[in-house]
Formats: sequence, structure tokens, C-alpha cells
Amino acid sequence: MPSTLTDNYNRIHNYMRISITDRCNLRCTYCMPEEGMTFLPNEQLMTDEEIIQIVRVAAQLGIKKIRLTGGEPLLRPNVVSLVQELSQIEGIEDLALTTNGLLLAKMAADLKRAGLKRVNISMDSLKPERFKQMTRGGNLQRVLEAVERCTEVGLAPLKLNVVLMRGFNDDEWDDFIQYTIDHPITVRFIEYMPIGGRQQGWKRDYISLEERLKGSKWHEQAIPVDKPRHGGPAAYYRLPGAKGQFGLIHPVSDHFCDTCNRLRITADGYVKPCLYWSDEFHLRHHIGDDAKLAEVLIRSLEAKPFNHEMAYELSGQSLSHQPTTRTMSQIGG
Ligand code: SAM
Ligand code: SF4
Repeated sequence: MPSTLTDNYNRIHNYMRISITDRCNLRCTYCMPEEGMTFLPNEQLMTDEEIIQIVRVAAQLGIKKIRLTGGEPLLRPNVVSLVQELSQIEGIEDLALTTNGLLLAKMAADLKRAGLKRVNISMDSLKPERFKQMTRGGNLQRVLEAVERCTEVGLAPLKLNVVLMRGFNDDEWDDFIQYTIDHPITVRFIEYMPIGGRQQGWKRDYISLEERLKGSKWHEQAIPVDKPRHGGPAAYYRLPGAKGQFGLIHPVSDHFCDTCNRLRITADGYVKPCLYWSDEFHLRHHIGDDAKLAEVLIRSLEAKPFNHEMAYELSGQSLSHQPTTRTMSQIGG
């Protein structure tokens, strides 16, 4: 068995993101429609044993970092025991989770004990009413409690994901940066991406982060900092004397595909070599056959193009092939 997952462009893949459920207790405006979402029947979701087997094989191929996501991963029954099993797989050095934080405060200590290393929490507004609107029902206070609890139990470094949307929350940019002065966390601004349902009004609501940084009152003071370990594809900055820092993740305005090291596993057990394109390969058919699972993971990289074409959707340029029709929640954004 080869020891690395290397694609046609010599990119080594050591990071796997897994959607462990496509269900969610929110309907964020940038992720899902308000009504009419249909979710996979239970029997189509990967079982714990299937996820564990896929990760075990992937670890033998050089995957070192796993992120559990969704949908809302904390809705998955037995997520703590799944974390515990995954944390014990040889070769997995980093096990992280991305969550909307609603159920996290009461689960943080158990997750930490089970072997979870780090958490990213999505928090798109510091204003309770607006937060509720953007997430269609979220309770900001519960998320802030989760932030505190994670810090207490040592799920650190903690990152807050903020999807920036023009006219929704882009006026809070400076407030989020100010938040890093007193909080030892990393705020990561993320560009709104045209994924899945080809969201209505995406072009109208998208804002480039570089454009936003230039308009910020903190622009002159922000000092570029080295990428933190596990920093991912972001450019990072810190205000003088701040306890925390902030990062810009700009997949649309300036894609970072040349450094892509990720594979994604959908909630129903397909491997997707790229978030954007429709290519995907069924792993679940091959459960029980490690060699075949390894072959599918390796072969999926042959279909990985050099880059996505999200920015083409701004200019109306035609795409070189078919983008995915899956939602972020199925892919594991
Ligand atoms: N439910 C969890 C959460 O919200 O953190 C995990 C799943 S969510 C799909 C993972 C991440 O994708 C979140 O940080 C969310 O903000 C981000 N996301 C979802 N749709 C997006 C979009 N269209 N553009 C950019 N980021 C998006
Ligand atoms: Fe749910 Fe996360 Fe999508 Fe929001 S971003 S609807 S919390 S999966």
C-alpha cells in the first residue's frame, strides 16, 4: 500500500473532513434553505463502524488530521464514543470538530476526555437578534457559553468561524476584530461560497475579504502573523497587545488550491476530492475490504482538478465542468 495520498499536482493529502450527519438544528442563510430540506434516511448515513474503518485505512495512507463536521455533528447519537474510537486510531495526530455550538457547552468536557483536541465554532454575529436571523433560530447566549466552556476544559486553541455576507454582518467586522483584544481565540472570517443549492442572491451577498480589510478601522494596526499550527488556508493578523488574532479565509477572491491537502467524506459515505466539483466516489460499497477502500481513496485523487472555479460565478465565465449540487451540510463544509 502506498504511504501517501498524492495527487497529479504533487499535493500530499493528510487531512480528512467527515460529515457525520447531514441534519442540523439550524438553517443558516448561507448554508441551507429555510424550508424544504430533506435529510438522508438513517440507513443511508455511515455507521460508527464504517467511519472508523474508513479513517483507519486513511490513516495508513497518511491522513493525520480528522475534522468531524456536518450538518451539526453534535446531533449524532454517540458522538462522544465515536470521538473516543477515532482518537485511538494509530496515525491520527489531530482530531477536531466544527459545530454551531448550540449543544456544545454541556458536551465539551466529555468530548475533551474522549480525545477531541480542538473545536471550531460558527458564530456569525455578536448581536443576539441578528444571530438569530442569520442562523434562522440560533441562540447566541448558548454559543457564548460554549466558547467559555471550551476554554475552561482546554479545547484550545479555539476558533470562531464567521461567514461574512454583504449587508448581513459585514458591519460587524471591526467588532469581531475588537473581540480578539480580550479573548485568546482566533476569529476566522470566511468568504461566502457558492456551494450546493447555488444559493439565490449569492453574487449580491458575497463580499471579498481583502476589500473588507481595507475598509476596516483596524487596517493600519493589523500586524500579519505567522500561521498558527493547524492554521489552515488563512492569512492571519493580530492587533498590538491583543490576546487573540484573526484570519481571512478567501476561497473565492484568492483561492489557495495549490496548497490543498484535504479530502472530504460525505454523510452517506462518498469521498469528494474537491469541495466544489461534483466528482465523488462511493466508499461505503467497499466496507469490509481495506484494500479496495484504499484504492478508491487513491483513485479519487486522480479526479482532483488543480483548482475550483468559484470566482467564475462572479464574472459569469463558463465553468470547465460540473459543480456539485450537494449542500455544505452533506459534504461537511
Ligand atoms: N454545523 C456546523 C457549523 O455550522 O459549524 C458544521 C457544519 S457547517 C456546514 C461547516 C462550516 O461551513 C461552518 O463554519 C459554516 O459557517 C460554513 N459554511 C456553510 N455554508 C457556507 C458557505 N456557503 N460559504 C462559506 N462557508 C459556509
Ligand atoms: Fe447547520 Fe452548520 Fe449549515 Fe448552519 S452552517 S445550517 S449550523 S450545518
